[in-house]
Amino acid sequence: MGRFDGLPIREELKSFEPYGAPQLDVPVLLNVNENPYPPSEDTVQDVAASVAEAARGMNRYPDREFLGLRADLAAYLARESGAHLEPEQLWAANGSNEVMLHILQAFGGPGRTALSFAPTYSMYPEYARDTNTAWVTGRRAEDFTLDRSKAIAAISRHRPSVVLLASPNNPTGTALPIDVTEAIVAQAAALGSVVVVDEAYAEFRRAGTPSAVSLLPSYPNLAVSRTMSKAFAMAGGRVGYLAASKQFVDALRIVRLPYHLSAVTQATARAALRHADELLGRVERLRAARDETVDWLRSLGLRAVDSDANFVLFGTFADRHAVWQALLDDGVLIRETGPDGWLRVSIGTSEEMAAFRASLERILKTDTGRH
Ligand code: PMP
Repeated sequence: MGRFDGLPIREELKSFEPYGAPQLDVPVLLNVNENPYPPSEDTVQDVAASVAEAARGMNRYPDREFLGLRADLAAYLARESGAHLEPEQLWAANGSNEVMLHILQAFGGPGRTALSFAPTYSMYPEYARDTNTAWVTGRRAEDFTLDRSKAIAAISRHRPSVVLLASPNNPTGTALPIDVTEAIVAQAAALGSVVVVDEAYAEFRRAGTPSAVSLLPSYPNLAVSRTMSKAFAMAGGRVGYLAASKQFVDALRIVRLPYHLSAVTQATARAALRHADELLGRVERLRAARDETVDWLRSLGLRAVDSDANFVLFGTFADRHAVWQALLDDGVLIRETGPDGWLRVSIGTSEEMAAFRASLERILKTDTGRH
């Protein structure tokens, strides 16, 4: 007896489980790269008042083109990355997950291929699967960086219509140098492909690491996606967005569902953007804690990958599942992801990081912590 007996589920979906990072009720949650700091009461009040105002008009459909929100996002990117973008160059959806699904719906599909470089974000193959797009991966180097000539060779070989590059990459934290990104985008342009640089973690990048936003004026085939879920501390608001050429955005307008961004979401996002300074105010502290965590893990004799994000990939363990479980037994939930032997920890508050360190130190003294 199969789970879907009697239902005409697509053959290629039968063996899958739904996306499943565990949502467990434990004291220390360091598993899905959230921002550990909730919004201030001031921000909460502004969001609530903005949602109340939106509710007064909720008998009507929301603004389908959400140009107010798109203008606010353009203004934010101007401040954050010095980009000069028209509101029509911005796009948003319910999380950058949905933004990227729109991209695969518009540019992928049967007979087409999407390419990325492993190890990378686990949702990419799912967007490909759900849109009937073939999925191929090149490899990152041993240190998880991307070799420019190998990347270009992979693009020439597979001729993908969509290239997905996460920078900083999840789960490794590795950012791409701008010259490597530009070489890939130029090669993709020559072959008629689009490139998405997924900058979900961009605000956490170390000083001197540029954003691909600076390449937008030169490449109409480039989109840079961002999210309010991480640095912005708004994972529950479900707002992701991208910046690209107007033509690129126009293609996404074809495939989005009518009124996909609710009046509540638009009001929430615009209120949060008015409080950007406060919401982003803890990023500096999280970056410092991230660097300290890398140093601390290395001081224990473990490997820890240099990170431009709000998480650190570390290991390697003979039995990573046993280490993950032992941490969970101490009330600390991290993520069992990445290549075999590695684990990923999100950066939390100083109390949460102290709990993580105490638990891992204890485990390393036991047989479970063999590395
Ligand atoms: N891209 C990357 C690399 C991510 O790690 C995540 C979230 N884990 C996302 C995109 C999606 O984030 P959201 O849908 O919350 O914007």
